[in-house]
Amino acid sequence: MIRWHNSCNPTNANNKIFSQPGFGLLSGLQHRLISLFDKMPLDVADEQEQVQDKKGIDKVHSREDSVEALANLELSYEQVRKELTNKWLDYEKSCFIYLYRGGGEPSNTLAAFDLDGTIIKPKSNKRIPKSATDWQFFSAWTKVKLQQALRENEARLVIFTNQNGVGLKVVALEEVQQRIELVTKRLNIPCTVFVATEKDEFRKPNLGMFKLFTRAFNSSMKVALDRSFYCGDAVGYPSHSDADIKFAQSLKIPFIPPEKFVRGVKPKLSESNE
Ligand SMILES: [Mg+2]
Repeated sequence: MIRWHNSCNPTNANNKIFSQPGFGLLSGLQHRLISLFDKMPLDVADEQEQVQDKKGIDKVHSREDSVEALANLELSYEQVRKELTNKWLDYEKSCFIYLYRGGGEPSNTLAAFDLDGTIIKPKSNKRIPKSATDWQFFSAWTKVKLQQALRENEARLVIFTNQNGVGLKVVALEEVQQRIELVTKRLNIPCTVFVATEKDEFRKPNLGMFKLFTRAFNSSMKVALDRSFYCGDAVGYPSHSDADIKFAQSLKIPFIPPEKFVRGVKPKLSESNE
């Protein structure tokens, strides 16, 4: 059960989230941040002192070093600030949340997507990706159509993906995370990605990921489902799950398969409710 009902302003929600029951900041990100800080130059004053200690009072030399160090320091802080806007969180270790470039502005209109077989597909033509880099966009039109849909609907991009391979320990969480980081970077659109790794209330067609999104990541803004849409490939054709279409039907959100989305066909609410 999701028991967290605090509604936060997302500008500070992302910061407050870590202290909420069930939420955690992933150690992977902590490691990345630590390595980023490691690359930062020493504090300018410390560096100047060290130069003076080692080489006597060579003020000109130390001043030049300091100016250069300051420039590098500003660059590094900028990089760190940019990096900080990308965050991995987890909820009770079974729902993982990636906020890319802050996760996007709160909105009552959503452009919601599944990930595998919808935004991307394996480059290797295998059913399951072989590695974090084994992917390509579902279509050459995916990125353009996505940008167009977001612009026309003033929508927020949210991705809901089932990754039970992680729960079954056949795929490493880090591999899934890396793939998501690469895909979002290529899309270069602020977005929030929810990853369900266990067979529990978060796994589609259950609505746990969506409920978590609306309760904690959209500034208590109610989603206008009739003006939003959900795009996914799991529609129950032979040998395929029907998790996506059932997810949309439960939400009563217009549903569109990826083939139609990239052709630019607008979804109709009736398609998901018939
Ligand atoms: Mg899929």
